[in-house]
Parts: sequence; structure tokens; C-alpha cells
Amino acid sequence: MKTWKWFATASALALSLTVAQPSLADVSIDDIVKDAETTGDVVSNGLGPQGQRYSALKTVNTGNVAGLVPAWAMSLGGEKMRGQETQPLVKDGVMYITGSYSRAWAIDTKTGREIWQYDARLPEGILPCCDVINRGGALIKDKFIFGTLDAKLVALDAKTGKVVWTKKIDDFKAGYSYTAAPLVVPSEKHGPLIVTGVSGGEFGIVGRIEARKADDGELVWSRPTIEGHMGTLNGKESTMTGKKNATWPGDLWQTGGGATWLGGTYDPETKLIFMGTGNPAPWNSHMRPGDNLYSCSRLALDPETGEIKWHFQTTPNDGWDFDGVNEVVSFDLNGTKAAATADRNGYFYVLNRENGKFIGGYPFVKNISWAKGLDKDGRPIYVPENRPGNPTKSKDGKKGDSIFAVPSFLGGKNWMPIAYSKDTKLFYIPSNEWGMDLWNEPVTYKKGAAYLGAGFTIKPIFDDHIGSLKAMDPATGEVKWEYKNRAPLWGGILTTGGGLVFFGTPEGDLKAMDAASGKELWAFNTGSGIVGSPVTWEQDGEQFISVVSGWGGAVPLWGGEVAKTVAHLNQGGMVWTFKLPKQTAQKN
Ligand code: CA
Ligand code: CA
Repeated sequence: MKTWKWFATASALALSLTVAQPSLADVSIDDIVKDAETTGDVVSNGLGPQGQRYSALKTVNTGNVAGLVPAWAMSLGGEKMRGQETQPLVKDGVMYITGSYSRAWAIDTKTGREIWQYDARLPEGILPCCDVINRGGALIKDKFIFGTLDAKLVALDAKTGKVVWTKKIDDFKAGYSYTAAPLVVPSEKHGPLIVTGVSGGEFGIVGRIEARKADDGELVWSRPTIEGHMGTLNGKESTMTGKKNATWPGDLWQTGGGATWLGGTYDPETKLIFMGTGNPAPWNSHMRPGDNLYSCSRLALDPETGEIKWHFQTTPNDGWDFDGVNEVVSFDLNGTKAAATADRNGYFYVLNRENGKFIGGYPFVKNISWAKGLDKDGRPIYVPENRPGNPTKSKDGKKGDSIFAVPSFLGGKNWMPIAYSKDTKLFYIPSNEWGMDLWNEPVTYKKGAAYLGAGFTIKPIFDDHIGSLKAMDPATGEVKWEYKNRAPLWGGILTTGGGLVFFGTPEGDLKAMDAASGKELWAFNTGSGIVGSPVTWEQDGEQFISVVSGWGGAVPLWGGEVAKTVAHLNQGGMVWTFKLPKQTAQKN
């Protein structure tokens, strides 16, 4: 009897301790599909696989956001402070983030205390093009999955941070790496699938999209993004991508680029995966006359087979490194199943997401020089004299005519994701206004070496700003408001039912704007530049907003004259979480 009593007391104590601890992650595929509707968690990149980055929460709103204060902050520590481009995930009182040099953390959302940390311990000789960044992980069932700079996919036990499985994506010595947040999609035949791409478009790799089983990482299908290459399904060859040599001359398709380095989105209504593809390789377009499918395109794929259901190419025969990787965001356009995407080339496209048909396209940066506009099908109307010249036609055969092109190759928009508000029906586009001197040079492919055939210098085009956050009406292309920022914007956007737009700046501020008017309502300096994407969620009746701060990314490395103007910005690595003081929250 005594023994039983003691046991009962001990069990009760153990139970109360268990309750006080954050609980074990258990994310179902249904949780992911419905993520946009559930404000108590963030279990996908994009706050929903559609990628709208909209939360209906309005506890924090235009009337009280001025009172927002830090709840906690946590350092990513060590000597590995570089660009932090991650987006936090939150489930059952635990936040999951990734950081520079392929690291990951689980954090108690109540206290900001670390639960576990994982360090991928990278080998010598990795070839990341654009800083040692990572753009976030994926949660599915009891696992947290993310990609590493040595081109591996790692599944960790979400509770302990211990490795469950590791899969090699490809050979890092050939220039492959991985930085995007994996996408989790439902599949009737295979169960939940982890969908990933590859980075390395500047090394003559060939882009592809792959789907693996979430449980064990086993490859289900792969789909190369350059015509002539064979796909696979269930361990066997499936179909060829496109038709060999249809839009690529000679053998260049074999090292043709089309890197899928930004990951994808998924639309539960059409059951399609949307992925973008990067530049054709090399940059020198005179070596590969033709459209060079499917580089610089958006692809819609069937999750069951990896077959391409439709494609839309933004920059055929690209000669400016206008990677078409940018996220495809599903939304409703007056009853049409539409999707929007803001391209590196400076144009914002609205497509029918059922079939990829062009609905509308509008410039979202000023002074675009490489095209006069878009035709009725959305194909660019080129300005031939703004294509960098053919080096074989130059006097010495070594340097083609240099041109000044707008936007620069870092893009009207780069990786940083847009957001869409269901309330204002506006897209919020983090853009950059800049140009570049660009010229072509002879080049031959060599494994693991940069494969560009081009030289360049990025330059500002306005005295007072490069960064430009724009609110754009997808029905008309009208820019409703613009916020100008001195440094280039490089972080993602969040919009909320409280009528707010949150985003960070390289100068270190997390800002909140009125989503309707663009008026700045709140700012907090995080101590280092922000190049990550904010999220929001609700816990115990309170609304929290989190962002990871830490300056870096491609601009300091590739930015030419612009890099000099941001050289003074401080590096860092810190998760910041904000909320309203309790009395302020209750007043509204
Ligand atoms: Ca959710
Ligand atoms: Ca590129």
C-alpha cells in the first residue's frame, strides 16, 4: 500500500514536470496543408504551403503595435556569425530555426532557452556561391529536416536534435550545395514527401527537383530542369525533360544550369508543386542561342510522379543572370485560381495556376533597361542593344561589349519572399533598385569551377536608396505605396489580420507598417542586419512575432560598388521575439 502511494505521488510529480516542459513535435501532413488557417502554429515555410505569409492574427494591430516590446532573444553564438536567412517554425511551445554554417536549434518559445543545437560540421572545400546561409527547415511527424552546404539532407529527431537519417543530395566538390527550406507535400501513393532542389547554378550543375519519403528519406522521383535529361520514378528512368536539343544547341544542355535553389510552394487546391529554376549556364548567352528550356522558368509538378504539368518562362535565352527561382504564391484573383511571382528580371507576373497561362505582368522596379515590356503571352520584348555583346565578335576575342543593365543580376527581387494580404488584396514586394555593368568573356566548363563567362559590377541608380518595399495590386499592377530603404532589402515579408506588414532591414530594424497606407508604425533595432523572414503565432492568448537577425547573404560578396556602401554593417546571429505587454494587449 505504502509502495503504491509513493509510486502514485512520483507519477503525479513526473506528469506535472512533463506538462511544464514543451511537448514533443507531432506535425501531421494535414497540419501542413492547413497551416495558413491555424494561427497557433507555423509548421511550413511561407506560413502555409501556398506561401502567402499572411496570419489572420490581430491582437497586435495598427492601433497598438507601437507598444510592441521584446519578450526574449537568443544568440546563435560562436564564431559562425554570418547571414541568417532562416524562417522560424513553431509548434507546441517549441521554435525550430536554422543558422549560418548549416546549424539548427530548438528553442522554448516561453523562455527563449535552447532545448538542443545541431551542427552539421561541414567538410573542407564546400562551394556555396552566396554566403554560408540557410533558409529554414521543415517539420513533419516527429522530425525536423533541413539541407546543408555540403549538399546533404538531414532529418533530426525534433525532440532531441539527434540525427535520424542523412541523404546525400549530390557532390559538393562539383559545386552542389543546399540552402532552401524543404517543402513537405501530401501524396496519395507515397505518403508525405520532402521536396527539394539543388543550389550551384554558377558552377555548371544541372538543376533538378526531387521528392523523398519523409520517414526514411528514400528517393521517390527526380525531375531535371534542363531539357534532354532523364527523370526517375521509383528507382527507374521515367521520362525525359522536354525534348533534347529543341531549345539548346550542341552539348551545352549537359551543364545547362537551371538550379532550383530557392525551394518551392504547394497548392492543395490544384495539387501542384511550384518550383522556379535559375539561369542557364554559362551566363554568356551567345554560346546557347534558343530559349534554353526550362531555365529561368516556373514549373508546376505532379507530386505523384514528378511530371511537369505546365511551365512559364520569364527570361528566355537569359543573358543577365535573371534566375527565375522566385516563389510562386497562390491566391484568389476575383474567382480565378491565380498565382503571383516577382522575378529577378524586375517584372511581377500573375498566372493562372491551373494551367500556367499568363494573366498580367507589371514592372515592380524602375528604369528596366533589358526589355521594353511584356507581350500578350508574358514574353519579354527585348532591347537587343542591352544584351551584353558576344566576345568572339570583339576586337581581341576576349571581352564583349559592356552594357549597363537594370535591374542588376542580384535582381529586382532576389530570394527574399513576398507576402499577400487577404484583407488588402495587395502583394508586398521587397525589391531593389540598382543596375550593373555587364560583359561576356570566353569560358569553358571545368568541374567545381565558376562557370559564368561574364564580368560585372553592381551600381546604385538612385542617390538615397536601393531597397524598396512596394504594395502592389495584382489586378492592375498599381503600386499603392512604397517604402524606400538606403541599403538593399534582403529579408522576407509578413502580413497580418491586424493590418500590418513586418519586415527587416540590413540596418538592423524590424519594422511594422500599416498594410493599407505604408505608414511606419513601429521599429526596433536588433543590433545586426535582418535578412531573415518574420513569423507570428498565438500562444496562451498572446500574439508573438519572431525574426532572426544577422547581416550577410549575397550583397556583401557580389555587390560590387554597392558592397562598399554596406561594409560597415555589423554581423550577428540572434533570434528576437516580441509581444505586447499584457495591459496593452487587453486594451484592444
Ligand atoms: Ca499554422
Ligand atoms: Ca544565378
